[in-house]
Amino acid sequence: MNITFLGGTETVTGSKYLVETGKTRVLVDCGLFQGFKWLRERNWQPLPLDFASLDAVLLTHAHLDHSGYLPVLYHQGFRGPVYTHHATRDLCRILLADSGHLQEEDARFYAKHRIGRHRSPAPLYDRRTAEDCMALFRTVDFGEDVSIADIRFHLQPAGHILGAASIILEAEGRRVGFSGDVGRPDDIFMQPPQPLPELDLLLLESTYGNRRHPDTDPGRSWLMRSTARRRRAGRC
Ligand SMILES: [Zn+2]
Repeated sequence: MNITFLGGTETVTGSKYLVETGKTRVLVDCGLFQGFKWLRERNWQPLPLDFASLDAVLLTHAHLDHSGYLPVLYHQGFRGPVYTHHATRDLCRILLADSGHLQEEDARFYAKHRIGRHRSPAPLYDRRTAEDCMALFRTVDFGEDVSIADIRFHLQPAGHILGAASIILEAEGRRVGFSGDVGRPDDIFMQPPQPLPELDLLLLESTYGNRRHPDTDPGRSWLMRSTARRRRAGRC
């Protein structure tokens, strides 16, 4: 099994991992590069990948740095299945359409104010393309085994946001874990992330890996900040 990193390395956005066996090719996550302009420009560079030979896309969760490049794949002709949890599908329906809408608005703004080097700036994709690509989604429950030729995978809860999953993928006698974004063990809304099984290789999200969460109760902190603001404004 070969794994090629097409994003999400040396930066925290654009997550895309190409997994290839002798027979099958899947993309794990399909994220937009976001943030600085030099990063966003990477969204316009062609991927070293023949979309026609891609068998499927697997999504860990709906945040755009993991899902927001899907309409580009669709626009370039990818019509294979996109496997993910049903809550991720529902969130993507909102987030991808909104992303397309914002990109159309940005392009109109740049054209109106003649910003940038392009005479007629174009969006990376439009709202219509983002809506159309939703037809590719196939929903999967946590723990459900799915086979794509010689690759098997299942999703397990990762906390973080609704539907967020780690992907446990097995092929050619190896088991690989893609953690996706991992939530807190004591979140007030989300279940804690489920511990990962024994793996041959783990690809671990580490954006905040060098920081400690404060021990303060976020609900109480918010209430105190809100009360202080209201006092300053003379409302209590
Ligand atoms: Zn996320």
